[in-house]
Amino acid sequence: MRGVFCTKDLTSGIDGKPASVLDRLSRIMPGSDIFCMDQVHSDRIVLADEAAPQDVPQADGIISRNPDHVLCVRTADCVPVLLWANDMPLNAAVHAGWRGLALRIVAKCVRMMRSLGAEDIRAAIGPSIGPCCYVVGRDVADALGAEPRINGSGSLVVDLRAVARSQLTGAGLEEDAIESRGPCTACRTDRYFSYRRQGQLAGRNVSLIGGKSWSLPGLQVG
Ligand SMILES: [Zn+2]
Repeated sequence: MRGVFCTKDLTSGIDGKPASVLDRLSRIMPGSDIFCMDQVHSDRIVLADEAAPQDVPQADGIISRNPDHVLCVRTADCVPVLLWANDMPLNAAVHAGWRGLALRIVAKCVRMMRSLGAEDIRAAIGPSIGPCCYVVGRDVADALGAEPRINGSGSLVVDLRAVARSQLTGAGLEEDAIESRGPCTACRTDRYFSYRRQGQLAGRNVSLIGGKSWSLPGLQVG
């Protein structure tokens, strides 16, 4: 196992800000080097190897060549994507909302992992808002280049996870190298946080890869 998409068994009670998540994780995994980001819906991806664990770099993707580094993304409807290489020690975590996906952050992360020497790259797409609940305007659908779909109520919806998957396959990953895990966050607020359902009161879903992160409660991947 490499990583985990944590459920509320772990995330309940945190406010979702980097300091709060770091504090919770540091107590659960004492002595681990844990990397959280100040996520800004960009396509910026940083190397954890060049940062100190408590730095909180402004970025939406983080890559590490150290398998003991615990990489963290926080989401509440946005898509968490965990990536790893089978042929070398290399892990990555990406926060992909519609803005990040429009900037093609997932494809960019695969390219960066390749530039670091990885060839056999695997990915897991985590719990995030599904097309059942993600009603958007035409501007968002256009920015994503997504196939527009109309739901039963006549609203435009998009499937963010399908967009993330298409960036992975477009970057050369085989379909069987991609896991998709978990339900729609807006449908399952008993297990996950959803900004669409809970607004400012929503905490954050925590997705982790590296170190012993896979042993935490949630959906294990890798
Ligand atoms: Zn839903």
